[in-house]
Amino acid sequence: MEPKGEGHFNLELENGMKNGCIDLAFERQPETLAIQEAVRVLLQGLGEDINREGIKKTPFRVAKALREGTRGYKLKVKDFVQSALFPEAGLDEGVGQAGGVGGLVVVRDLDHYSYCESCLLPFQVRCHIGYVPSGQRVLGLSKFSRVADVFAKRLQDPQRLADDICSALQHWVKPSGVAVVLQCSHIHFPSLDMNFLDSSHHGFVKLLVSSGSGAFEDESSDLWGEFLSLLKFKGINTHNLCRNGSVKEWCPSVKSSSKFSPSDSEMVSAVSSILRSLGEDLSRKELVGTPSRFLKWMMSFQNANLEMKLGGFGYGETDTKSKGEVKGRRLHSELNLPFWSMCEHHLLPFYGVVHIGYFCPDDGYTPIGESLVQSVVHFYGFKLQVQERMTRQIAETLSPLVGGDIIVVAEAGHSCMISRGIEKFGSSTATIAVMGRFSTDLSARSMFLDSIQKSS
Ligand SMILES: [Zn+2]
Ligand SMILES: [Zn+2]
Repeated sequence: MEPKGEGHFNLELENGMKNGCIDLAFERQPETLAIQEAVRVLLQGLGEDINREGIKKTPFRVAKALREGTRGYKLKVKDFVQSALFPEAGLDEGVGQAGGVGGLVVVRDLDHYSYCESCLLPFQVRCHIGYVPSGQRVLGLSKFSRVADVFAKRLQDPQRLADDICSALQHWVKPSGVAVVLQCSHIHFPSLDMNFLDSSHHGFVKLLVSSGSGAFEDESSDLWGEFLSLLKFKGINTHNLCRNGSVKEWCPSVKSSSKFSPSDSEMVSAVSSILRSLGEDLSRKELVGTPSRFLKWMMSFQNANLEMKLGGFGYGETDTKSKGEVKGRRLHSELNLPFWSMCEHHLLPFYGVVHIGYFCPDDGYTPIGESLVQSVVHFYGFKLQVQERMTRQIAETLSPLVGGDIIVVAEAGHSCMISRGIEKFGSSTATIAVMGRFSTDLSARSMFLDSIQKSS
């Protein structure tokens, strides 16, 4: 019997997405249309004008990403594995273990992403698979990633994902045993009253899970030890490994103590409709509450839900007049101010840090304090955004308070680039805005950029 959860290859959907070209059939499919309609409801609930240029096509982009990101339901492991089992003799019995018989094979660092079934946000998965071939046949190495993808491209939970990959390989390849270790990273939910300002956690909840079958069923066996040693070579710290079944909640939306009850029932049913359009069974117990948890995330980015108080700060008139006079002024930097934002093109998080530099009098007096700068950063972060615009808006807002000369650098990781498979994990985007003296004075600019480098 096939492991449960394997669907049928949907040619229509697959072909519709080939090479990034969307054919009309995909656009007109009722599931695609239903998701788009639901996303429009969500955008309106956020206070957005759905005809605004930047977000006009967002409903379609979200529908495409979600359907593509959950296409694993329609893929069959069998289709990838059966044509890729190769005969491999291995060593003669009694001589040793290798190749097609007895020797451990480990495939490491397979990057995937999946959707969290608790909150509908994507999470990153770095997958490591070990197996011991038997029957004098081996699986083509590229197929391990394919098989992982079949199960990652769904609404998932880390432990179930590890178990799914493990049992599918065991079933279709029939080796002596399979071991799977997943390093999963889930974005934190932003909360102004929590410790998310503490940049040490880098914005992620991390979890290491494992699953083993056959010869790997006993996790205290030498074989497991060998597998883990081969992961340690790659700098993977296996000390925090959660053994089978020992994982509880990991999604920050579930852990978060602050209760959120969405008042907008139209938005709740919009998210439910998205889940249904992805082929999910809403009565599945893991999905109870997913719509409201997703909304809890989303409502952090409601248009203008933060107040920015700028009155009473900044230079007086006499100071502004001295603009351009550089002598007696020093470069002041506010570095590594964290921010959270949501990409308005894909409704996915991007987050990182902002660095700000400006000139101020040499007398030790700074016209604006760190907390004011941070609140400006949050004000422009917590909304549907694009990074370039956010950087400019921060510069424009702070510039009059500091006499006109300002430089703003934003560094961010975009989950929309990673989850859509365009960028690798850990890639980041930097944007820069310069005003006043910084737009012409290269040495001032490089002085500031050097100070960022020194701080990190
Ligand atoms: Zn989650
Ligand atoms: Zn995006």
